[in-house]
Amino acid sequence: MNNNYIANRSKGKMKSDILKIGAMAKADKALGNHVIDATIGVFLNDDKSINTVPAVIDNLNNNVTKNVGYAPITGYPAFKEGLLKWYLKDQYEKRINEYYIPFGATLGGTGALSIAFNIFLDPNQVVLLPSIMWGNYKLIAKKAGLKYDTYQLFNSEGNFNITNLCTKIEEYSGSQSNILIVLNDPCQNPTGYSLSDEEHVRLIKKLNKLSEKVNITVIYDIAYLDYDGNNKQVHKIFNNLFNNEVKFLPVFAASCSKVFGMYGFRVGAIFTFIKDEELASNITAAIESQIRGTYSSPNGPALNCLGNALLGEDIDKLSNEIYNNTITLKERTTYFINKLNETNIKHLPYKSGFFVCLPCSDSYDICEKLKEQHTYLIPIADDIVRIAVCSLNISEIDELVMVLKEVM
Ligand code: PLP
Repeated sequence: MNNNYIANRSKGKMKSDILKIGAMAKADKALGNHVIDATIGVFLNDDKSINTVPAVIDNLNNNVTKNVGYAPITGYPAFKEGLLKWYLKDQYEKRINEYYIPFGATLGGTGALSIAFNIFLDPNQVVLLPSIMWGNYKLIAKKAGLKYDTYQLFNSEGNFNITNLCTKIEEYSGSQSNILIVLNDPCQNPTGYSLSDEEHVRLIKKLNKLSEKVNITVIYDIAYLDYDGNNKQVHKIFNNLFNNEVKFLPVFAASCSKVFGMYGFRVGAIFTFIKDEELASNITAAIESQIRGTYSSPNGPALNCLGNALLGEDIDKLSNEIYNNTITLKERTTYFINKLNETNIKHLPYKSGFFVCLPCSDSYDICEKLKEQHTYLIPIADDIVRIAVCSLNISEIDELVMVLKEVM
């Protein structure tokens, strides 16, 4: 007998400190201190309440207990229809006739990523992640039995580094028959980078060429999609894929946390657009068995409510509410970036989204010093500090810039 009850594959503590640092900020506040907490990727209103979408909340209030039964393994058809209509707008009919769309409702975007990591690679294969990334990808990969390598996110001009990604694909195409890449776009966490149309189309062409040698699956992590551009139009990420020849497999990991304000309800989806019937049916089967063998079925009551809201007559109201949220975020981040520029504090290339990153010499040291001033940020890498601007109001941004000026 010994105390070694935990299997080797489940040993090891989580290294990610985001939630821990967030908890420190809360504890500091509870002591009565004036705290600036820019740790967690949750969009807060100016009064620090969680930013939600009233049309979604109304539906939850009225309907969440109306159907508490188990949902089908891949979710209710109305949820699939509602979410795809949300993304595809007036192209919905055209695209559902043009493509097979394997689809699974998941436990958040995290659930979608976990399913994708499990179904597109075998254990010990390598998934390609961005060099600056949402750290949870690494843990999701580990839990799927995968290894990971990183591609350089930026080139020396501060643009998306297509060349390095292609080099990595070539490197692994010698030893792996399937290549899996995560592209967190638009509004990349943590940088806020979004690919331009030109970059995306160039990437598609390069991936097409490489697909002649090896099967490539690209997971588009679109957790923050509606915070980029105008949410009333089909996002360019879809148009670029529909309007160009695509020889790789584009798979979407969608999250209903950030855009629909349903963080704790754990709603998301995995889906793809495919012309080959057999491949589509195999992907659906793989998604189904992955769901059934892990958590059996998704959160039915929440899917039901969001499906109702997305297909209901208040859809324009819902869309306007989300539009207003995106404008509020844009105002805050533009204000912050302008302040940084005025103060000569460098930031990594930012286009849209919840976070802004500052390059620095020692992020851990800087974050420790900031804590002494009751200011909590995340050291996302040795030389990068992440700021969740989504959780700050304008007066906190002013205060933060003053503190940064002093410490950096
Ligand atoms: N992808 C990115 C880049 C994220 O930042 C997050 C959450 O922070 C997720 C996916 C997953 O979100 P959720 O599982 O809450 O839908």
